[in-house]
Amino acid sequence: MEYAYLSRSPFPPQVSEELFQRAISRSSIHPLLDKPQAGKLLPIPLIDASLGRISNLMAVYVYQITLDMMRELHVSQPFWESQSCMIHWFSAKHPYRIAMSNELHLHPLFQTKVELLTPDERVALSYKRARLLLQTYRLTPSDVQFCSPKFWSLMMDPICSLDIAMFTILAAHVGLTIGTLSRHLKKRPDFKPLVDRLLRLDTVGIYLLTERGHGLDAFNIETTATKTADGYILHTPREEAAKFMPASTPSFGIPKVALVMARLIVNGEDRGSRFFVVPICNEREMYYGVHSVRLPPRSGTGPLDFSITSFDHVHLPPTALVASDLFDFSTPAHPLEAWWDEIWRIQLGTMAVPAPWISAIKAVAYIGGRYSMHRCLLGKRSEPIPILTFRTQQWPVVHATAVGAVMGNWFPLVIDQAMNRSTDHRVRHAMSVIVKTTVCRHFQRCVPEVAERCGAQGTFEHNYMARIENDGKGVIIAEGDVLTLCIRLFSELLLQRYEVPMPDPGESLLARHAWALLEENKALLKSLKGDHRSDAFNSLILPQSQTVVEAIGHALAYSAALKSDLPQPILDVYECAVIRQDPAWYSEQGGLSRMDQRIHEDAAVTSMLPKLASYLSQLDIDKYVNAPIVSDARWKDYLAALPVHTGNAVPEVEFMQAML
Ligand SMILES: Cc1cc2nc3c(=O)[nH]c(=O)nc-3n(C[C@H](O)[C@H](O)[C@H](O)COP(=O)(O)OP(=O)(O)OC[C@H]3O[C@@H](n4cnc5c(N)ncnc54)[C@H](O)[C@@H]3O)c2cc1C
Repeated sequence: MEYAYLSRSPFPPQVSEELFQRAISRSSIHPLLDKPQAGKLLPIPLIDASLGRISNLMAVYVYQITLDMMRELHVSQPFWESQSCMIHWFSAKHPYRIAMSNELHLHPLFQTKVELLTPDERVALSYKRARLLLQTYRLTPSDVQFCSPKFWSLMMDPICSLDIAMFTILAAHVGLTIGTLSRHLKKRPDFKPLVDRLLRLDTVGIYLLTERGHGLDAFNIETTATKTADGYILHTPREEAAKFMPASTPSFGIPKVALVMARLIVNGEDRGSRFFVVPICNEREMYYGVHSVRLPPRSGTGPLDFSITSFDHVHLPPTALVASDLFDFSTPAHPLEAWWDEIWRIQLGTMAVPAPWISAIKAVAYIGGRYSMHRCLLGKRSEPIPILTFRTQQWPVVHATAVGAVMGNWFPLVIDQAMNRSTDHRVRHAMSVIVKTTVCRHFQRCVPEVAERCGAQGTFEHNYMARIENDGKGVIIAEGDVLTLCIRLFSELLLQRYEVPMPDPGESLLARHAWALLEENKALLKSLKGDHRSDAFNSLILPQSQTVVEAIGHALAYSAALKSDLPQPILDVYECAVIRQDPAWYSEQGGLSRMDQRIHEDAAVTSMLPKLASYLSQLDIDKYVNAPIVSDARWKDYLAALPVHTGNAVPEVEFMQAML
């Protein structure tokens, strides 16, 4: 069999076999590596010549992959070699488990201390980083259109969790803008030059769907594109119709182009909503008739130039219409379905946007865990006692660690399911909704808890947690608002329009819980007078939507963790974390009294503690963590790099006396 060795340089003589073995033994090893599904892999050393040594991150995550696999993945050998990148091929059955490891975290753009920059310097940096990422991954239009493993690798790259503004740019640019254009490329070769520019991020693509007055009811947008003899006139009829959110300013030296959703008006008739390609700005200024109002910052988040964009009778050529057939102006027979079809990329976005939050949960677990291990108070005999000694400190750390491990294991498996074209498209979308809801809500429970347990340090920008917590609020809304996604899915499940594959109730307590909640609500619906549009449905059933969708997510994630043989302490702590969310059910129907729940939790945490340091390193996130509080040495280095105020002023004598 042919093998490609993904090595950038020959094995340097100074790296002995012994040193290599030592590097491996110190490194984190993903639990899956010992499993049969990783049997195709053979660890080989990959040497980072620039560092002149084996780096831990590489020593473990380097494998032989066959050229066949590379061809199947559309990966070209020179690319991987030149980028010093590696692939983990966990299983031929699970291509989305491919993970790309790279050295982006060592790149100067990711070494910058963003907390010392001005907001605009940070925005400029996020655009540069987004370009670096795209140039590293070198996606093709078909990678984006069909969401290839390389596309998922980019979305799941832990580097994205370092800069959510960058991820926001990329999610709209790649997932939505290039994604929407990609399926028309065959019949619309005129889009190719634009798509090529977008793929290099020479031009930034933005996706203007939402209007200030029409968010979740974006089906009712008001922007118009009126057909004329030589194209279209794009217009914002009133303030409420201005496009809301996407960053459309010309302030960062990058040309921008938008896909703008507008109502197609032909001969005075509304023919439904369509996308139009609209140049927004060049490197310096807005195009004629396009107005961008920059919004103030979103509290506590990584800044971006979020804006309100409007159009004043902007003339567009006929080719601006995003359609395979430029002359099809017909009114769709099923307007709502046609609208969903136009915005098809958002459904994939629902799946993609939670990815960085899994890395963020891991990072927060790592930061809180390491801090709690070295932060000490003085005990009775003046001996230092790490704060991790306290159960109140242990819980948030083991909780976030277990959630990070379980979500990290489950996410690629859900991508497999959601990408499987033989599955009903509604079920595929349901899986996206379940995973987004589960990841986001876990994130919201873990992160503030750990951050608070890091005291004042947990509130600072340089320690990541407070900012990522705020950034997390955006993802809950963008590309499918979690609550309304759950309402739709839950209603459809109760009306039995389709089913999602759930683990057998006998498999685990969490699976029993999910089945029980679903059945309980089905029974409730039957007992109600009226249908799913009734007041009773609105008042009694809708508020349960998210809880039940989350319960399904918990059961699925736990099932995946069981099948992947994640360590028992991780499974147990995860189970306890889920039980904490609905203790009444577990007491009423799960056979666990409140006291049983406490004892169960105590045992789970106790079992996890002896190997906590190793579980933290198995999260494989340390290289993406810049928070200085992870060790005393790092903190001291960080402090030494901060500006110090000194001076030669001498207090006046009277002032000194007054003070005395
Ligand atoms: C970080 C970020 C990036 C974004 N990027 C883009 C982008 O690239 N392109 C773009 O076009 N837009 C973008 N948006 C905008 C986003 O699509 C909208 O914010 C989203 O659709 C919600 O609209 P809204 O904020 O107007 O909320 P609203 O529509 O005002 O909804 C507010 C709340 O009302 C309730 N609600 C509304 N409808 C229902 C219902 N049917 N049932 C029950 N409750 C309901 C829910 O509680 C909901 O949270 C972005 C938003 C964020 C936060």
